[in-house]
Amino acid sequence: MTEQLFAEMLNLGDKWEVSKLEVLAEQSCIEVTIKDTAKLLEGMECPCCKRTDLIIKDHANERLWDHLQMWTYKTVLKCRLPRALCKSCKKTWTIRAPWEGVNKHSSKDFEALALTLMRHMPVSKVGKLMKVDDQKLWRILRVYIDKERAKLDWSELTRIGVDELSIAKGHRYVSVFVDMENHSVLFAADGKDAQVFEQSPRNFTERRSPSCNY
Ligand SMILES: [Zn+2]
Repeated sequence: MTEQLFAEMLNLGDKWEVSKLEVLAEQSCIEVTIKDTAKLLEGMECPCCKRTDLIIKDHANERLWDHLQMWTYKTVLKCRLPRALCKSCKKTWTIRAPWEGVNKHSSKDFEALALTLMRHMPVSKVGKLMKVDDQKLWRILRVYIDKERAKLDWSELTRIGVDELSIAKGHRYVSVFVDMENHSVLFAADGKDAQVFEQSPRNFTERRSPSCNY
């Protein structure tokens, strides 16, 4: 009954189910074990030959995903992801967890909350609130930033402004590059000297923004 409730809360649908719930009181952690159901392969096709003659070959080693907290308890999802075999072309692959975010060890819901919180407070504070190492949050944040930056189009860029600002009353500065036409932020770099231009994208006029340091 409780497992069914958790499955609904996780929006697992009919291809996955919660098979076990464990409350680890000493660690203030709830572990939710998920497994695939007999319906998993319905409607699925081979990524290689596109045929649907598939079977579950076996299951990979157990993996863990950080998920949203429940009250003061950290929640971890656990699953041995199934590996499918195409009987037509013999391709074998691990089926992706639908709850997985950009990080292989966190859920989409976890990342959505983390991104929202990181807009309003330091990453280290978010880490404490969500009971997770802030370095993990930085890695997640960088993946999302890279994805969004890849969508930027600077082909119409004509005028760039650069200004510095100090951080938290200290002597630490960042320099912000701004599109002077629409006032959108293009890039921010550590420091206020000429070195900031070395950190900036080499060519702002490229159609796709190049990768750069943060
Ligand atoms: Zn195939």
